[in-house]
Amino acid sequence: MQSTESSFENIRKDFPILKRTVRDNKPLVYLDNASTTQKPNQVIDAITDYYQNHNANIHRAVYALAEESTEAYETARDKIANFVNVKNRQEIIFVRGTTEAINLVAYAWGRSHVNEGDIIVTTEYEHHSNIVPWQLLTQEKRAKLEYIGMDDNGELNLDDLDKYLATGKVKLVTFSLMSNVLGTITDAKKIIEKCKAAGVLTLIDGAQAVPHMKVDLDTLGCDFFAFSGHKMLAPTGVGILWVRKSVLQTMNPFHGGGDMIREVHKYETTWNELPYKFEAGTPNIADVIGFGAAIDYLTKIGMDNVRQHEIELTTYALEKFAKIPGLQIYGTKDIAKRGGVISFNFADVHPHDVADIIDKEGISLRSGHHCAQVLMERLNVAATSRASFYIYNTKEDVDALIDSLNIVAKVFKL
Ligand SMILES: *Cc1c(COP(=O)(O)O)cnc(C)c1O
Repeated sequence: MQSTESSFENIRKDFPILKRTVRDNKPLVYLDNASTTQKPNQVIDAITDYYQNHNANIHRAVYALAEESTEAYETARDKIANFVNVKNRQEIIFVRGTTEAINLVAYAWGRSHVNEGDIIVTTEYEHHSNIVPWQLLTQEKRAKLEYIGMDDNGELNLDDLDKYLATGKVKLVTFSLMSNVLGTITDAKKIIEKCKAAGVLTLIDGAQAVPHMKVDLDTLGCDFFAFSGHKMLAPTGVGILWVRKSVLQTMNPFHGGGDMIREVHKYETTWNELPYKFEAGTPNIADVIGFGAAIDYLTKIGMDNVRQHEIELTTYALEKFAKIPGLQIYGTKDIAKRGGVISFNFADVHPHDVADIIDKEGISLRSGHHCAQVLMERLNVAATSRASFYIYNTKEDVDALIDSLNIVAKVFKL
């Protein structure tokens, strides 16, 4: 596929939902992609095909359907490994999403590696999924949770990291590769370098990064990496935890049950090989296969083209936003350092009032704290409005948003 904007126009045909209208026949303008993305026919068809033609439980039986299901499930694992450049498929664990992935690490790694007085470091712009599991762990272990602060441009103050690392007590540094509120792309290389020099493990929340840019886990150098399928065209309920094998081998199981065992006796159990030791119970087979179809779809477009498309849309939107009276944008204006997420507020207008007006125009826009209340406190706001783009969004979508924002400005006499 070519990288021209016209080929991105063709993409819209693959998404049946984009044909529908909302609120008095307004065309749907979907701008809440940081929350979840829409699904192309290729993904919907893969799920339907699985249930219509192949459905059976995996890994257990030798009959034809079971073999086909197992093969399709494991092929999806290989596609995903390949997509983020993971060489060893044993390091790819299927989970429900980023939230479960991080909880798995906090439980199965954290409980046996973090002790009283140890420090876990996170950042001020994390999603609640990358804060609350660490609060639970550090409270249980009487360890400490510390935050890397953020400057007014939405970039991390890495001096804070140096300060914590100097204590010699840090066990893990965790951060989002791209903020779901500000769009800031974190300087992962620099953080990982510092942590490696200090012998400290790193966990990356890749929920916003993997859908929007090329991510290469073979060269990134972190130890844990989490992302969700549903923010990159795949169904809800499937995601990935990647763990470097040498670290994975030091971890206890998360859930106990079927499939994660080798042998179970009355009082002791031996574990299955990796990655199955961490995949207890019947997994979300159909949706994993749908995830594989989403990977095929994105691979065909090319992640560099996805990023380029979003740079174009975001640049266009930021220029237009700057002309709307009373509108304040959060985060850096440097397009190289941000993804296609724009958070903003109108002077004194509550973001929910903004969302109400915009909704009447058929535009799906998110208003709220975006699961990032620590960041809201840092910005000294209760909430923001947020527009977030994906491959099927167009300049016309941005224009529709701009028109509706001008209505807000007019209604509130800004
Ligand atoms: C959406 C999101 C999560 C949570 O993902 P789930 O799929 O809800 O588990 C975590 N971190 C970031 C940065 C996100 O955008």
